[in-house]
Amino acid sequence: MVSSQHGTLQGEDDDTDSIASQYDVIVVGGGAAGVGVAIALAHAGIENFLVVDRNEIGSSFASWPEETRFITPSFPSNSIGMLDLNSIAVGVSPAFSMRVEHPTGSEFAKHLQDLATFFELPIQENTDVINIEKKDELFHLVTDEKTLLAKNVIWAAGEYQYPGTGRFTGSEFCRHTSTIPNYAGLEGDEFLIIGGYESGFDAAYHLAKRGKKVKLFDKDSPWSETSSDPSVSLSTFSFERMTEQSFEENVELFPETLISSVSLNDGVYEITTQDGQTFQSKEQPLLASGFEGSHKFVSHLFEMRDDGFPLLGDNDESTIVPGMFLCGPAVRHGGLIFCFIFKYRQRFGIVAQSIASSLDLPTDDFIDAYRSWGMYLDDLSCCGQECLTC
Ligand SMILES: Cc1cc2nc3c(=O)[nH]c(=O)nc-3n(C[C@H](O)[C@H](O)[C@H](O)COP(=O)(O)OP(=O)(O)OC[C@H]3O[C@@H](n4cnc5c(N)ncnc54)[C@H](O)[C@@H]3O)c2cc1C
Repeated sequence: MVSSQHGTLQGEDDDTDSIASQYDVIVVGGGAAGVGVAIALAHAGIENFLVVDRNEIGSSFASWPEETRFITPSFPSNSIGMLDLNSIAVGVSPAFSMRVEHPTGSEFAKHLQDLATFFELPIQENTDVINIEKKDELFHLVTDEKTLLAKNVIWAAGEYQYPGTGRFTGSEFCRHTSTIPNYAGLEGDEFLIIGGYESGFDAAYHLAKRGKKVKLFDKDSPWSETSSDPSVSLSTFSFERMTEQSFEENVELFPETLISSVSLNDGVYEITTQDGQTFQSKEQPLLASGFEGSHKFVSHLFEMRDDGFPLLGDNDESTIVPGMFLCGPAVRHGGLIFCFIFKYRQRFGIVAQSIASSLDLPTDDFIDAYRSWGMYLDDLSCCGQECLTC
């Protein structure tokens, strides 16, 4: 991976006795959001920036269960000015470069690594950011090695590595689906899955394909949602899977069923629902109830909304700490949820332009180019659940 050639040495830092480098921008996280916004920074003419990742580029995708595939399809539509749904950069099409419609996590991780190399992004891997504070107009990013300094920070650390542990008694007895290397390796014949949105459905589908019996519980009923917004209802990919014979035969759906506790006695797991029903299994129940999200880690740098997500200004900047930006699936504006690549990529241009103009770089051409590719969404009034662009 290309290492940073851009940082300037600054001398001793207060926080550590090591030398700190100072950047115009540090992007924390080298996933789809971090790599995508970094490419936008480069396109906006910003040179002195760095992407840091605690692991490697694309490591969250690389750790998806082997069988899990993208639910959003890729198609080489760029030639008519419509960016491939899974593209994170202007002119890039995963469908064209990978020849796959629904990539696996590993395939997409490789795609991100290829993009980072192609665009010669300045990247520092194996660098865990453990604290961020702003002092005297500079952000101090304390990492496991040294402190990095930056005028601006883009938080793009995602959610996958910050799983939700469930909010019920005994949730520690469950296994989060993000810790499963592959479904083929799960032993047992009967599974209880808590959470019936995309991850839970994916787990149920792969287990059912192997002839396992699955009971799938959700406090709502995502498979009955009539919304056209895939952040709310299930994807077409999952609806199609529901119609497969193995799914119909092996998966039992429990809508509007809130789990209140899980216990383990004599090697048998028992889950109890809020209305008093109980279900047993010798297999560890699977938890697919979502992610805590990395934004909790930087909650001291953002005002928080009532739903626990960061409150963002028009440019996805913190409303209380100037220079602190958010990119990725945790971006929310009003009722709009930017949780898919084709949604949150539309804000990369907004963030990059905002930082570039604060550095006195001209951005008119950048805005025109990004807007024409649907990567500069500044008018959110068009967006609602029936709006196909968001
Ligand atoms: C199973 C699953 C399937 C999905 N399918 C789709 C889909 O089909 N289509 C779609 O558009 N979206 C999908 N999503 C949603 C979303 O696109 C992904 O969650 C995506 O990974 C988000 O990208 P990201 O860059 O925000 O986060 P990540 O890919 O998680 O990247 C964050 C990076 O930050 C690094 N990091 C984290 N904390 C730190 C730290 N403290 N210091 C340094 N580095 C750090 C991590 O190592 C990681 O590489 C899916 C999500 C899941 C969980």
